[in-house]
Amino acid sequence: MALMPTDRTRHRGTALWCYLAALVAVPLIGVGVLTTLIAVHASGDVDSARRAEAAVRAVARLDAVRTAAEQEILPTLAVAVIDDPSAATALGVSPWMLASARGLAVDGAVQARAVTDAALAAVPAGSSGAAVAEHVSADLAELRAGVDRGQVRLEQLYLGYLDVSNDLMTAECAAAAAAVSEGVPARTARAVQDVETIATLAQDASRQTPLYLGSLFAPDTALIGSRLAWETGWLSYTDAQRQMEELSQESLRAAWVQLRESELMTGLDALLTPATTPSALTTDVGRLTELLYRSGDRDAALAQLVGTAVDEALALAAADREDAAAVLRRTIELGIGLLLVSTVGAVWLGRTVSRSLGLLAGQATRISEGELVEVEARGPREVRTVSAALGAAVAGLRRIQDQARAVARGDLDDALLDQPLPGPLGEVVHASIQQIVTSVRQREELQFALAHRATHDPLTELPNRAQALTLVTSALHRARRSGEMTGLLFVDLDGFKAVNDSRGHAAGDAVLREVARRMRAAVRAGDVVCRLGGDEFVVLVEPVETERDLMDLAERLVAAVGEPVDVGGLVQVGASIGVAVSRDGGADADALFAEAGTAAERAKRHGRGRAEIFDDALRQQLASRAATEAAIAAALTNGEMRLVYQPVLDVAEQRLRGFEALVRWVRQDGVVVPPDEFIPVAESSSLVCDLDRWVLHEATRQLAAWRAGAPAVPGAAEPTVAVNVSGRHLTDRRVVADVADALAASGLPPRLLVLEVTETVLVDDPVAMTHLSELRAMGVAIAIDDFGTGYTSIGQLRHMPVDTLKIDRSFVASPDPGQQELVGLVISAAHTFGLDVVAEGVEEPAQLERLRAQGCDLAQGYLLHRPLPPEAAGALIRPMAGAVPAS
Ligand code: C2E
Ligand code: CA
Ligand code: CA
Repeated sequence: MALMPTDRTRHRGTALWCYLAALVAVPLIGVGVLTTLIAVHASGDVDSARRAEAAVRAVARLDAVRTAAEQEILPTLAVAVIDDPSAATALGVSPWMLASARGLAVDGAVQARAVTDAALAAVPAGSSGAAVAEHVSADLAELRAGVDRGQVRLEQLYLGYLDVSNDLMTAECAAAAAAVSEGVPARTARAVQDVETIATLAQDASRQTPLYLGSLFAPDTALIGSRLAWETGWLSYTDAQRQMEELSQESLRAAWVQLRESELMTGLDALLTPATTPSALTTDVGRLTELLYRSGDRDAALAQLVGTAVDEALALAAADREDAAAVLRRTIELGIGLLLVSTVGAVWLGRTVSRSLGLLAGQATRISEGELVEVEARGPREVRTVSAALGAAVAGLRRIQDQARAVARGDLDDALLDQPLPGPLGEVVHASIQQIVTSVRQREELQFALAHRATHDPLTELPNRAQALTLVTSALHRARRSGEMTGLLFVDLDGFKAVNDSRGHAAGDAVLREVARRMRAAVRAGDVVCRLGGDEFVVLVEPVETERDLMDLAERLVAAVGEPVDVGGLVQVGASIGVAVSRDGGADADALFAEAGTAAERAKRHGRGRAEIFDDALRQQLASRAATEAAIAAALTNGEMRLVYQPVLDVAEQRLRGFEALVRWVRQDGVVVPPDEFIPVAESSSLVCDLDRWVLHEATRQLAAWRAGAPAVPGAAEPTVAVNVSGRHLTDRRVVADVADALAASGLPPRLLVLEVTETVLVDDPVAMTHLSELRAMGVAIAIDDFGTGYTSIGQLRHMPVDTLKIDRSFVASPDPGQQELVGLVISAAHTFGLDVVAEGVEEPAQLERLRAQGCDLAQGYLLHRPLPPEAAGALIRPMAGAVPAS
């Protein structure tokens, strides 16, 4: 056995969330990478801003050292000059004045050195400019030691300090270049440039006084003592002043203009302009002292300006660093923000899409499992479109389902079933549903028609016998509950057979239809007219007030039926009506039918065209009939039936040709009941069939036994046995089998069995005719009994499956010459059709003589033999070769 997968089939393909994750991941990674790149760049900017700031700080520190170192020059030079013996002479001042001046100068120098040292100490080890600071402090230490020992010459001293100042200036420029090279913004670069410009001015300014003093006190020295050096210094100073015009910052320019216009600057410049200042004029001590103070003040003012510029540059560099840091921060924030927003957006998008698709997928799964759920449209437009399409499909399926349900319920009139279904599938389903509906309707109609046919008489459309029984049964049930009276009218038409025979079946049918119509018109609504068959009808009446009402209705019906009927010529029939009543529904339907039928029989007996009610006399008659029936049935089983055999002789030679078996009921008390007293009773039920069956078996058995006891004489005719078959048995479908069974059981050749049937049976019933044909085909002979009492004409015999004609006793015995002549005609006609003729009830020799003269073949009667008991009859067989003498 193949293994079937039990779990639900997993669908192939990548899950939606994978696509969404990929969709989201790519931009997310992009944003991340971009943010990182920008952040790295921005942090580089921060670093370079930081380095630029550090460089500006280095510039500031070196400038502080340089300014301080330059402040040392004047007092140190002053000490050196004072210590020179020629100086006092040159200045023309008293020795104590010199001594006090020296004291001041030494103080100044000490103070200046302390400032320089502090500035040097402020340069952190390892920072940019630290190397210069170290080397400068070593140079200064050497220079100062030399100065303090008085071993350094004036020029040497000045050049020593000049070297220091230049070294620092060079380092300062390098630091400034480093700051600018870090790619700082132009404004910051210009601020750094401003620091340098002012620093250069400050440097040039600080050298003016020493150079001037040098030209005064040491004119012989090549470098500082020359007027040329002083003038060169001046040119450099004025050039630096011009450079100041280029300052980028408004505030610095303003401060500079204020300083330049100040009395300090203008006075000092006026003092130190080589063009106007004669070398000798300045030896005045007062003026020299003033010069020193003023130049100290100017240096301080310029140092302050440098400080301001440095502060500005520092502030700008710090601002740059802050800006870069802010950019970095903003970049990171923006990046994180973007990542967050896109993550949240992606998650939201993913959830929205996958939730709506998931919902759709869930609904689709349930639909695929046959559950027609309501499809919700949610999510993006495409999903809604799919949902809507699915919803439409489900709606279509639901309509199909509704229609199928309506069909399953059998609700074929539901308007829903007429609605077309959408799409090609819908068309096919709708067509098949329509087909089902049509075929179910057809089937219902057929069933209805069949049911109608089973319960209705096709000729008159009235309920038939079976339905009449059902209706009466139901009416009696209702009456039992309500306690009301129920009436049944049994209507037997008079003279119908004559109409049928004379006018034909079509006229007979027309009469029946018209009678049915009149009866229906005559009864009340609710009363039911039924046709039992032939010319018998019943009318069920419920409820019934009085028996009188029923009799009135019966009389109305008699009158209505009695009116002439036009069947292409007027004909007339009558009605004999029997009325039966159930007072409380206690009777059963069969009993009520029997009562009404019995009453109708009496009405017929009493002269037709009238109504009789089922009364006590009838009840008694019916009761005795029921008792007789029971007794006959018992007699059959108890073996109280006997057969007697009346011989049939040929008329010419009066030899035995056969027997007619006649039944006798020998009761236990010894009384013999003749057949006329019980056969009619037996004929009112199927009892007569049982009786006939028994006679068939007994008679064939008896003849076979006789034959066995008396071997046939060659050339002599073999005796037959005739058995009377009642009309009811002949129409019974078992009759053929019964005869065959009897022959088989006895072993009697079929040709020796004669079945006697009365002519009325043959004329009335086509079924009887069929059975007779079958029996005759079996080899059995058929005789028509009591011929002449019915309506059969001789001509009809031509087409009947018959071998023998038995002329009725009344005919044979009649003294009327006309009747006797008729017997002769019948005999010769029968001979024409190839039939044998038996004359019944021959009692007198004259009758026999006449029959012989008329050419009658066979005779039967008291004159010849009475019906004999089996022993006596059997004794007749032996001398069959010879003539049997009349008794
Ligand atoms: P049926 O078939 O016409 O039988 C002849 C009747 O006439 C017999 O009366 C017979 O005894 C009587 N009969 C014969 N010769 C004479 C005669 O010279 N003068 C007079 N007056 N009568 C004569 P039975 O046996 O009483 O039978 C009466 C009827 O009962 C029969 O008439 C037949 O129709 C019926 N029957 C008799 N036996 C059976 C039977 O076994 N089965 C059936 N279904 N009907 C039977
Ligand atoms: Ca007979
Ligand atoms: Ca007869």
